[in-house]
Amino acid sequence: MTARIIDGKAIAQELRDSVARGVEELVEAGGPRPGLATVLVGEDPASHTYVRMKRKASAEVGIESFHHELPADASQEEVEGLVKKLNDDPKVHGILVQLPLPAGLDEEAVLRAISIDKDVDGFHPVNIGRLAQKGREPQFVPCTPAGCMILLEKAGAQIEGANAVVVGRSNIVGMPAALLLVKANATTTICHSRTQDLPGVCREADILIAAIGRPEMIKGDWIKPGAYVIDVGVNRVEDPDSKKGYKLVGDVAFDEAKEVAEAITPVPGGVGPMTIAGLLNNTLTAAKRSVD
Ligand code: NDP
Repeated sequence: MTARIIDGKAIAQELRDSVARGVEELVEAGGPRPGLATVLVGEDPASHTYVRMKRKASAEVGIESFHHELPADASQEEVEGLVKKLNDDPKVHGILVQLPLPAGLDEEAVLRAISIDKDVDGFHPVNIGRLAQKGREPQFVPCTPAGCMILLEKAGAQIEGANAVVVGRSNIVGMPAALLLVKANATTTICHSRTQDLPGVCREADILIAAIGRPEMIKGDWIKPGAYVIDVGVNRVEDPDSKKGYKLVGDVAFDEAKEVAEAITPVPGGVGPMTIAGLLNNTLTAAKRSVD
C-alpha cells in the first residue's frame, strides 16, 4: 500500500486564507492592522531569504511588516535596544528576530528581551517553559512544531495514546514538537545523536517526526507499517539533472517510507509551507489580543 501524501502546501494555503479573512475582519471592526517586525542581524544569505519570504507572505494576507537590519558586528545592547523599542511600538504586534544570530551575540538574552505578548515565533524561554508545564499554556507555540501538529490532525492521525517518536531535540523544532505531542497525550520518545538503536526506536512509532538535518537518514525499514511520518528536514543534495545542480530532500528516505507509512509529508511541500503560515497566524492572534 502506498501512503497518503500530506499536502502541506494546500493545508498552509487554507491557513493563510483564514488569516487573510481574519485580518480584514479585525480591520473592518475598527481594530488595528496586524504588524510584524522583522529583525535581521548580519549578512547570512539564507536568513535574508527567509525574512524576505516572511515579509512577502505578510503583505499577501494584509499584515504590515516593519523591517530592521543591523550589521553583523552589532552589539548585544544594540540588538536588545531595538527589540525593546519594538516592544513599546503599538503598531508592532509580533517581533521576529531571525535566527541564528551572528556568533558573539547572546541569543537567549535577545529572545528573553522580546515581550512574551509579541513573541510570535514562540521562542521566549517563558513560552517554551509553559509548553513544558502541565496545566499551563504558552502565549504562542513555535511555528514549525505547531505546523507538524496541524498536519497530523489534518491527516487524521490518532495522537492521544499513540507512541510518538521525535528524532531531534533542537530548541526550535525537535524539543517543542515533543512537548506538543506530550500535551496532546501521546507517549513520546525524544531521540538524538546519542540514541542507541535509533532504527529500533523508530520502528515502534505510530507517529514519527524527523527533525535532524541529515538527508534521507530514516530508511523505509525503520518505519512501522501504518505510521504517520512528518519530515521536517530540508537538505540540499547534488542533482546534476536539475538546473540549479541540487535538489531538496528530507530526513526520511521518502520513496521507501511511502511504501510502508499510512501518511507522509513530502519535501518540499510538507512542513516547510506551514512554518510561515503559522507565523502569520500568530501575528494575527497577537493583534487581536492587543485590543481584547
Ligand atoms: P539542529 O541541527 O539544531 O538539530 C538536529 C538534531 O538532530 C539534534 O538534536 C541532533 O542531536 C539530532 N541528530 C543529528 N544527527 C543525528 C543522528 N545521526 N542520529 C540521531 N539524531 C541526530 O537542527 P534543527 O532542529 O534546526 O533542524 C532540523 C532539520 O529541520 C534541518 O534539516 C532544518 O533545515 C529543518 N528545518 C525545517 C524547517 C521548516 O520550516 N521546514 C524549520 C526549521 C528547521 P544532538 O542534540 O545530540 O546534537
